Amino acid sequence: MNNIPFKAQNELNKLLAGNQNFVNGTPTASNMCLNTLKKYAFHQEPYAAVLSCSDSRVVPEIIFDCGIGELFVVRVAGITAGPNVVESLEYAVYKLKVPLMILLGHDDCGVMKYAKDNYPNFTGHFDSILKCVYPVLDKKEDITCHNFFAQQHTIWVEEYLMKTSKIISNAVKNCDLYIAKAHLDHSTGVVSII
Ligand SMILES: [Zn+2]
Repeated sequence: MNNIPFKAQNELNKLLAGNQNFVNGTPTASNMCLNTLKKYAFHQEPYAAVLSCSDSRVVPEIIFDCGIGELFVVRVAGITAGPNVVESLEYAVYKLKVPLMILLGHDDCGVMKYAKDNYPNFTGHFDSILKCVYPVLDKKEDITCHNFFAQQHTIWVEEYLMKTSKIISNAVKNCDLYIAKAHLDHSTGVVSII
């Protein structure tokens, strides 16, 4: 984790500490009530954008011990970065000025399994999702483990965002944004930086 801008480092430390609270079974988030929502009725100021899987087990606010107004979350199956997903993340960077973006992959991801089972074919179902994941398999690395595949895909998503989005790549180059790649282990609840 070299060269992380100070602000992003602070926010990342806070979220990793929150994850430790979750793991320890001692969550502290108190800003989950109607009063918090009222406070942010007409504005928001999240300090991180999180791209995570739609998987019901991967709930960023819970695993990072956060409440209302803290995270700008984009959830999509397999953290697949199609146009709407990229633009949603760009909104967080450009309009909300988040200093940190977390790409959060996870264990036992159904998208990775489906892609491995069907590569290199398109099945007529979930094709736009497969299109986002197959480039990782195209690299011909030895990907036998779904969890390793998910991590390689997370790395690829960062490369794709940097290549595709001027808003995101410029923010990173200007040190206004740091992208952290992370992975959730289901058996421990631990989010690790990869
Ligand atoms: Zn998943």
